[in-house]
Amino acid sequence: MTGLILENVEKHYGSACAVKDVNLHLPEGKLVCFLGPSGCGKTTLLRMIAGLESLSGGEIRLDGDDIGHTPAHLRNFGMVFQSLALFPHMTVGENIAYPLKLRGVGKAEQRARVVELLELIQLQAMIDRPVAKLSGGQRQRVAIARAIAARPKILLLDEPLSALDAKLRESMQVEIRQLQQRLNITTILVTHDQREAMTMADIVVVLGEHRVQQVGTPIEIYRHPANEFVADFIGSGNIFPATTLGPGRVGLPGGDALDVPASRSPVVGEKIKLLVRPEDVQLSAPQATAGNRLLGKVTFVRDIGATIETTVECSGVSFTALSTPCQGMDLGIGHAVSVTLPAEACRLLGA
Ligand code: ATP
Repeated sequence: MTGLILENVEKHYGSACAVKDVNLHLPEGKLVCFLGPSGCGKTTLLRMIAGLESLSGGEIRLDGDDIGHTPAHLRNFGMVFQSLALFPHMTVGENIAYPLKLRGVGKAEQRARVVELLELIQLQAMIDRPVAKLSGGQRQRVAIARAIAARPKILLLDEPLSALDAKLRESMQVEIRQLQQRLNITTILVTHDQREAMTMADIVVVLGEHRVQQVGTPIEIYRHPANEFVADFIGSGNIFPATTLGPGRVGLPGGDALDVPASRSPVVGEKIKLLVRPEDVQLSAPQATAGNRLLGKVTFVRDIGATIETTVECSGVSFTALSTPCQGMDLGIGHAVSVTLPAEACRLLGA
């Protein structure tokens, strides 16, 4: 099978487990994000793929070949670290040419490849500039050009944007994504920033507690989180306790009942968790409770420019609703309000 395959990959440091039983198939030409909170094992997993960390167990195969024990320099993977690790005393051109020089590529060919890459990253005029005299975004592009100079089979990016300010970071996310698509190079990006993963990835691998929690497209992960960990980590969500009353029906702590999708048939009386995304919560002028429309009271309002975040307490739980100013009702703390939680937007979460 083509692509990168990880089978039962594990990493232990003494008795501590950093990565546990990872099974993944990363198809060719896709951008895959390893996403998860600090310490969950993202970097360790990436470093094992790069050959910079040994495996405690399992196998890594690339296009059918077992590469789990191949030394890093023979894997032909390009890597960009958080620190970028550019050589400050060298020029832009020398930095990009470095991996070619290491491989014994002739001077003329090195020069031609550097010119081609500089055109790709739009820094043609900077070939002789020392990297110390570049902006953060320009340095970023040089690091990527150096990583792809030797036409690696896979590009590995370990939080390469974390040192940039928010605006530059967003524009670099788009730039890297466009470059990756143009080159059609299989890329793995490590990030703890869910927005970055959602913006850039074809496939998101959510890691938590040293294991893979879910693999899917950004929209699958957001709309159909596999469990409470993923629901909580991806996007903001209203996650609250409920009790099953029968197929497609749950009770809230305050006694109201809701219709929910009947995809699972839990036992009556089972304690479960329910997820409703804030953009799916609908607020309206107070009316009698009916169906999935409940009565509540506003406890907090936050106007963040493009959106208004309203927190409402109802039936023993607190919901956050997102609306835009043009839909906006004039809600203040203490106002009564109706809250509709559409059945199709309610999601029962597994453990
Ligand atoms: P971050 O986002 O903070 O970089 P991460 O998800 O990349 O975190 P890793 O750096 O892979 O996490 O670390 C996973 C776990 O392995 C952590 O508990 C970490 O303390 C541990 N760990 C990592 N490297 C070593 C090491 N060389 N020796 C011992 N423990 C390690």
